[in-house]
Amino acid sequence: MMYDVIQNSTNIVIVSHKNPDGDAVGSSLALYHYLKKIKKQVTVVLPDSFPDYFQWLNGTEHIIIAENHLLKAKEKLDEADLIFCLDFNDLSRIGSLEDSLKNSNAFKIMIDHHQNPKDFADCDFHNPKACSTAQLIYEFIESYGDLNLIDATIGECIYTGIITDTGSFKYSNVESKTHNIAADLIHRGLEHNKVHESIFDQNSISRLHLLGYALGKIEVMEDLPVAFIALSKKDLKRFNFSKGDTEGLVNYCLSINGIDVAAFIKEDVHIIKMSFRSKGIIKVNEFASKYFNGGGHLNAAGGRSDLTFIETVEKFKVSIKLFLND
Ligand code: 5GP
Ligand code: MN
Repeated sequence: MMYDVIQNSTNIVIVSHKNPDGDAVGSSLALYHYLKKIKKQVTVVLPDSFPDYFQWLNGTEHIIIAENHLLKAKEKLDEADLIFCLDFNDLSRIGSLEDSLKNSNAFKIMIDHHQNPKDFADCDFHNPKACSTAQLIYEFIESYGDLNLIDATIGECIYTGIITDTGSFKYSNVESKTHNIAADLIHRGLEHNKVHESIFDQNSISRLHLLGYALGKIEVMEDLPVAFIALSKKDLKRFNFSKGDTEGLVNYCLSINGIDVAAFIKEDVHIIKMSFRSKGIIKVNEFASKYFNGGGHLNAAGGRSDLTFIETVEKFKVSIKLFLND
C-alpha cells in the first residue's frame, strides 16, 4: 500500500524533529536522494537549524529551515500530498510545524525508532529496536528491492545517522545487521573515514575550551551513581556557543567509573534543555517523561523545564534521587 501511495504522489515533503541531530538530517537526506532517484518531487523541511558539521552532506543546501523561512515551510507542507515524518513519533517534537502537520490532508508515513509512538500517521515503518532512523531508511529502500540505487551520497547520509545515534557503533542499540548495513554501504562506494572526519574533526577552538570548562564543572552526586553538567546562558556566551557545541558532553559524565546515570542541563534562550543517558536497565526515558516533559530511548532521553536554571538543577537532583530509590 505504501508503495502505491509513493508512486501516485506528486508532491512529497520530508519532516524531522526540532534540534535536528545527525539521524534527523542524515535519514531525511538519504530518503530525499532516494525519492529523487525514483523521479519524485521532494522537499526536506526542518523546524530549526542543525549543527554546522552536517552542512557538508549533499543536499543540505535545499533544506527549508522553518525557523528562518516559516511561510515557505508551511506552504510546502500545505501543498504536499505525502509527508514522511522521520525520527520522531510525537507531533510536539516538531515545534512550529505541528499545526501545519495536524491540519494537512496529505498521507503521512512515519519512519521512526522511538518508543511509544503517537497515533498521527496513516501508516508507519516503526521499530524501537532499530539503532537509528537511518537504518530504517536503508531497510525501507531494501523492502522495495532498490538497494542498487544506494550510491556513495545516500550511503554518507545513512552512515551519518547510524554513527551519530550509536556513538560510532558503541551503544547497545547496535545489531549485527547495523554492521552488515555499514559494510554494504562501503561496498556501494561510501568512504566511511571521510564521514567521521567531516563530522567529528571540525571543532572550533572555543568549542574545545567550552569542553574543558564543562569537564571542570562535572558534579557527582553523593551516594548515587549520578553525574551531571549544568551550563548557564552566561557560560555558553562566554565560549561563543554555536549549535552542536555541547553535543556528546553528557557522555563524559557517563564515562566516570561507577556512574550509571548522566545528565546535561543547558540553559537555552527561552527554555532549559536536558539530556539524559544511562547504563543497563535504568530507564531514563521514563524519568524524562515523569519529571521533565520529555522522552526518548531507554538509555538516551531528553526533556525540558520552564523553571529557572537554578531551580531546574535542584529539581533534577531531587527527582533523580526519588526515581532511583523508587
Ligand atoms: P539528546 O539528549 O541527544 O537531545 O536526545 C536523546 C534522545 O532523547 C533522542 O532520541 C531524542 O529523540 C529524545 N529527546 C530529546 N529531547 C526530547 C524531548 O524534549 N521530548 C522527547 N519526547 N524526546 C526527547
Ligand atoms: Mn534517531
